[in-house]
Amino acid sequence: MTASELAPLFRYVLVRTSHPGNIGSAARAIRTMGFTRMELVAPHRFPDREANALAAGADDVLEGAGVHAGMIEALAGCRYAIGLSARRRGVNLPELSPREGARQALDAALRGDQVALVFGNERTGLENEELAHCHAMVRIPSVDDFSSLNLAQAVQVMAYEMRLMLLGDAVPSPPPAHDEPPAEVEQMEQFYAHLAQTLDDIDFHKGREPTTIMLRLRKLFQRAQPDQRELRVLHGILADAQRMAHLAGEKR
Ligand code: SAH
Repeated sequence: MTASELAPLFRYVLVRTSHPGNIGSAARAIRTMGFTRMELVAPHRFPDREANALAAGADDVLEGAGVHAGMIEALAGCRYAIGLSARRRGVNLPELSPREGARQALDAALRGDQVALVFGNERTGLENEELAHCHAMVRIPSVDDFSSLNLAQAVQVMAYEMRLMLLGDAVPSPPPAHDEPPAEVEQMEQFYAHLAQTLDDIDFHKGREPTTIMLRLRKLFQRAQPDQRELRVLHGILADAQRMAHLAGEKR
């Protein structure tokens, strides 16, 4: 597959961007590297003249950009997501270099998956709940005492690594397609909600705060990247556990 055939599988997701100029610069950055798909989550100002000015001709990217209230909508249809963060956060995700991230992203695309590259707000970066939707984290190896790049420049670095990877003669023939498609972000969220409810129903927490254990379980299932059939089995197990808990409750 050629770079231009693969490029449409990638989307650049900008979360809660404060400065419309950065949206424009990011549009230009991805357009120069052969990508066109940008999704915006709750941008503070968009559309905006400043965005168009800094896009410097990449207006097609801005015009095509989806604007969403939340990250799940922006990631709809994606099976692999990489969050970019200057700092290691409380979330336990595998931390990759930009090059390793590009490799993983390309491998996913070669399986036919849609892939998201996710960037945070200029000041606060990506929140833990936002990183929790991702399968891996990329940190651009900047210096410790001045680690944060300008948002659009971070987009440029990652888009450049993606471009090199897509152009690389190392592009192998696609690995065998999934017999069952991996779960999408939305389906994973439904599963986590069902899991949380079931843990409640079987009184797993016994008065303890559920947040930490839910984060651990998320980490486990994000790492496993279950496919849709596996998720159906897990839902089935949870539903049975809920049914048994209900019966036990009636007997008491
Ligand atoms: N203080 C924030 C910096 C935000 S910069 C933080 O610690 O995350 C805006 C966005 O640019 C970040 O959310 C991230 O997506 C990207 N970015 C900036 N510097 C980066 C770096 N060194 N590695 C990876 N992403 C970076």
